[in-house]
Amino acid sequence: MSQKLASLTTLVGELRGVGPERLSQLARLEIRTVHDLLLHRPRRYEDRRHFKAIAQMQLNEPVTARGKIVATGTKLWSKGTKSVFEIILDDGTARLHCRWWNLPFMENYFQVGDDVLVFGKLNSAKPRNIDHPETEVLDASEDVSIHLNRIVPIYPSTEGLPQRWLRSLIARTVEEFASKISEPPMTVAASGSRRREEADNSLEIQNPPPPPHFGGYGISGLQTGSQKSALSRDAATLPGRAHAIRLLHWPLKMDDTEIARRQLALDELIELQHAIQLRRKKLEANSRGLPCSGNNKFIRKFLAQLGFQLTAAQTKVLREIRADMGGAHPMRRLLQGDVGSGKTVVAACTALMALESGFDVALMAPTEILAEQHYQNFRKWLSPLGIAVELLTGSVKTISHSALPVPRSGFLYLGTHALIESSFAPKNLGLVIIDEQHKFGVVQREKLLRKGIYPHLLVMTATPIPRTLGLTLYGDLDISVIDELPAGRGKIKTFVRTADKLPKVWEFIRGKISRGGQAYVVYPRVEEADEKSGLKAVIKEFEKLEKIFAPYRAGLLHGRLRSEEKENVLTAFRLNKIQVLLATSVVEVGIDVPNATVMLVENADHFGLAQLHQLRGRIGRGAEESFCILMSALKNTEAHDRLLVMERTSDGFKIAEEDLRLRGAGELLGREQSGLPPFRFADFQKDQELVEWARQFVAENLKKK
Ligand code: ADP
Ligand code: MG
Repeated sequence: MSQKLASLTTLVGELRGVGPERLSQLARLEIRTVHDLLLHRPRRYEDRRHFKAIAQMQLNEPVTARGKIVATGTKLWSKGTKSVFEIILDDGTARLHCRWWNLPFMENYFQVGDDVLVFGKLNSAKPRNIDHPETEVLDASEDVSIHLNRIVPIYPSTEGLPQRWLRSLIARTVEEFASKISEPPMTVAASGSRRREEADNSLEIQNPPPPPHFGGYGISGLQTGSQKSALSRDAATLPGRAHAIRLLHWPLKMDDTEIARRQLALDELIELQHAIQLRRKKLEANSRGLPCSGNNKFIRKFLAQLGFQLTAAQTKVLREIRADMGGAHPMRRLLQGDVGSGKTVVAACTALMALESGFDVALMAPTEILAEQHYQNFRKWLSPLGIAVELLTGSVKTISHSALPVPRSGFLYLGTHALIESSFAPKNLGLVIIDEQHKFGVVQREKLLRKGIYPHLLVMTATPIPRTLGLTLYGDLDISVIDELPAGRGKIKTFVRTADKLPKVWEFIRGKISRGGQAYVVYPRVEEADEKSGLKAVIKEFEKLEKIFAPYRAGLLHGRLRSEEKENVLTAFRLNKIQVLLATSVVEVGIDVPNATVMLVENADHFGLAQLHQLRGRIGRGAEESFCILMSALKNTEAHDRLLVMERTSDGFKIAEEDLRLRGAGELLGREQSGLPPFRFADFQKDQELVEWARQFVAENLKKK
C-alpha cells in the first residue's frame, strides 16, 4: 500500500481505475472518499454459492438463477414507439425468458452465449418469464471470485455505473485499506488512552469502543422484556468496526450482514451521542447559571388566584426546575407532558421565578394563534401582580415599555419566531421557554438563547417521543415529565368511521351543540381540495357546513387568514359565539377551549398518528365526556386500519411508537425539524438498545475524562 493511499480521506479519484466519468458517477452516489466507499451500504445480498435451478423456480418467489443465453430478440410495434426486448436463458434444467419493455437499448448488453445471472420473480410459469430482472453478465476475463461463489453484495448504483465495476472497486478498496481500518482510532475522546497517535491521522472512520459485551458495560439493567434475549445473544458478537466493514462487503454467512449493520449503527449512534453530550459538557464548562430561583413573592399570589391546585406531577416538576434555576449551570430542561397535562401553568411558575429574581423572560410559541392565547392567559395571570407582559409576533408588536413593571421585576415577552429577529433585544434575559418545542429546530432554539448570556432554557413538548428518539434528540437536556392529567377531566371516546357515515356524524354533533357543547372540524387542506385523492379543503366545506349546522354558527380558521381575523374567530369560539370551528391543522398545537367536546377530523388517514393525538388533545379539557371522530378511507384498507390505534389507546407514547414503526423518525418529527443526521445504518425502531447503550457508554466516558 502506498503511503499516499494510507488515509481514509483519500479521494476516490486517486484510486486505480477511477477516471473522470466514474468519478462523477460516484459523486452522484455521494461517494467522494475511501471512507464513503467503505461505508456504501449494499441494498441487498445474493447468495451466489447456490443458484436456483430454473426448472424449480416458483411464481413470485425472488430468486437468483444462472444460465447461458440461447436466444435474444426485439419486437417493435406502434410504429416503433413500443418495444419489448427478450433474452432466453438455459441452465440445463429449463429455459427462462427475461423481458424488458420499452428499453430497446438493452439489446446492447447481451449476446447469445453469454453466461448471465438474473435476479427477480417469475411472473408467469408457462413460459417461465421474468419482466425487468436485475442481471449481470459474467465476464471470463474478470476475477470471478468477487462476483461468484460467495454472498455477493448488491449496491445502490446510478445510471451508467455497472454493478460489477462498483463491486470490484469496493472489494479492492476493502482489501487495500483493511489494515488501516483494523487499527481502531478512538472516536470517543474519553476512551482516548488507547493508541492516540493512530487516532490522529485516521479519524475519518470513527471507531466504536471495543466490541461491546453489553453486560460488561452495565447495559443489562436497561433491557426490557423480549429484547433482552436478542440483545444478550447478539451483543457479544459485535465484531468491531474494521471487521464489520469487511463483513458488510464480504459476509461469510447471511447473518453477518446484520451483525455488520449493527456494529456500524452503533458507531453512528456513539458519534452522535458524543457530539450531543459534548455540547452539554462544554456549556457547563463555559458558563455559570444565572441566579433565577426567585423568592416566591409572585408565585404565591399567582397560585392563590389560579382557581385550582397544581397536580402532584406539576409540583414535582416545578421542584426540579427550581433546583436548576438556582444551580451552578444554566438549566437545559425538557418538560414533557401529554396534551392537556397543564404545561402552561408550569411555564408561568418558571417565568415567575426568573421575574422575581429580576430577569427578563422570553416565551416562544410556534403559531400566532398560540402566542396570542398565551398572551391573553399570561396577561390575565400576571397583570394583577404588576408584571409587564409583551407580545411580539409577525404582525403584532406591543412592546412599548410604557407599562413599567414593578420595581426589580423583569419583562415577560411572548411571541412567535419574531422573537428571534434582531430587533428583539431584551436587556437582561434570564430564561427562555419554548412551547411545542418539536415545531422548532435546534438552530432557532440557539438563536433565541443568544439574546442573553447563557440564560436558562425550558423546552416543552406534548409530542410523546419514543424513548430512543428522545435520548437522541434531547440527549443534551434533562427531562421532566408531567405524568398525570388534572383531576375531573371527562373521558374521550374515539371512533373511526368511513365517509358514508358523515350525515350521521353531523347529526350527532348537532345533538351535542344543542346541549351546549362545541365542536372542531378539521380538514387537511386550506383551499384546493384534491379531487383525485378526495382530500377536502376547509374553505370549500365551510359554506356547506354553515348551512348544515344552522342556526348554530360556524367559524373558519386556517393559516392564510390575517392574524386579526384568526384572533377574532378564536375569541368568538372561546366565548361560544361560534359553536363549530372549521379549521386546518393550525389548531393542532396548544389551543385550549374546555367547552369544546367534539373533534371531527376529515381525511384523518392523511394525518400522522402523533398529529391526530395532538388534535384529539384539543378536547377532553373540561369535565364533560368528549368525542373524537376520525373519518377515513374505505374499510379494510391499510390507511383505515392504521387509525384504529387511536380507538384502542389514548396513551401518547404508544401512539408515537406506532407512528415511528409505520412512518420512521423523519416523518414522525417533521423532516427538516428533526435535526437528525442522515444515518446510513442506524434505525430508531430496530436499534433501541443500541441507542441506550451508546448514550450510556458516552456518558460514562465523558465523566471519566
Ligand atoms: P398543555 O400541557 O397541553 O399545554 P395546558 O397548559 O393548555 O395543557 O392546560 C390545559 C388546561 O388544564 C388549561 O385549561 C389549564 O388551565 C388547565 N389546568 C392546568 N393545570 C391544572 C390543574 N392542576 N388543575 C386543573 N386544571 C388545570
Ligand atoms: Mg400547551
